[in-house]
Amino acid sequence: MTISITSSFDGGNIRVLSITDTPSGVRADLEIANDHQSDFYQWFHFRVAGAAGRDVELRIVNCADSAYPGGWTDYHARVSEDRDSWSLAETAYADGVLTIRLSPDSNVAWVAYFAPYSMERHHDVIAWAACQPGVAHRELGLTLDGQPMDMLTIGDGPKQVWLYARQHPGETMAQWWMEGALERLCDEEDAVARLLRKQATIHLVPNMNPDGSRRGHLRTNAVGVNLNREWHAPSMERSPEVLLVRDAMDATGVNFAMDVHGDEAIAAVFIAGFEGIPSITDRQVALYHRYRDTLAARTPDFQTRLGYPVASAGKANLSMSTNQLAERFGAVAMTLEMPFKDNDDLPDADYGWSPARSMQLAKDCLAVLAEMIDDI
Ligand code: ZN
Repeated sequence: MTISITSSFDGGNIRVLSITDTPSGVRADLEIANDHQSDFYQWFHFRVAGAAGRDVELRIVNCADSAYPGGWTDYHARVSEDRDSWSLAETAYADGVLTIRLSPDSNVAWVAYFAPYSMERHHDVIAWAACQPGVAHRELGLTLDGQPMDMLTIGDGPKQVWLYARQHPGETMAQWWMEGALERLCDEEDAVARLLRKQATIHLVPNMNPDGSRRGHLRTNAVGVNLNREWHAPSMERSPEVLLVRDAMDATGVNFAMDVHGDEAIAAVFIAGFEGIPSITDRQVALYHRYRDTLAARTPDFQTRLGYPVASAGKANLSMSTNQLAERFGAVAMTLEMPFKDNDDLPDADYGWSPARSMQLAKDCLAVLAEMIDDI
């Protein structure tokens, strides 16, 4: 009997080309499917059955043309036998082929680009949060696949804070970050949460792209649209996710905004700002730098050496949310990037960058926001 591989579940993505028994075990040649109506692909998530006690070689053969080929060098796939703990698998990359080797103890194992975050878990967390004291839930509308756009609001202070994640659905660490943020903000005995809830009204959109998430996409929604290129002119036909959230932002105003992502290539946590917007002010930039430098002092999991090139004056892309919100509202806005690889300054040989570290980072980010909230 040979092994079976499938991705026909929430957030799954793989195509099976062949499965071959070999003298030492079994080998499967696989391909990552591109996002629907888009050329982007990099996210994979599948189940391997019938492999207990066997040496399994999984070869993803179409990595050279993926969205970020630079993401495969020094990268390790995540594997789990209980779908709770996701550890690093033995992984090598050469000539466009990502080779993952497993010898599972259990007869079923799951393999993914990063610890998955399913829409079912999203609903579980929304249900939990909506029951917490002082938390308001609002469904902003529906996506093109008919899924809800969920927003949670906590606190009743004058500063309008917006935290939103997973515009790019394959960046699941972003929603793990959101779960950590909710955990802290809903803890009524946590001093940071108490201060923020008094001084600010915090709006959270834990998943900006439910359709891409459930479809197993890397970067786009149900019709192949990259939501983080829609913020200047969203529409119900192409990008209802952005239009619904931006309309809600227009209703409240925005003082501080954080857009949470994952980066395929850079093995570090960093933020990107809004330096190229036309209406930039010294005050905005000073607060952005203060936030960045305070976070770097607070947690060794965040750094300021590595990151994206900074846009020159007037050259900001206003279709991206951070630039649009900084320009539209004069907000202190930023894009937080966590790695698919690891934080190379503090590598973890067993788990790499992980859900637990993403959640802890969210709690540290909120502590820095609390220190500055009166000035923002
Ligand atoms: Zn992203």
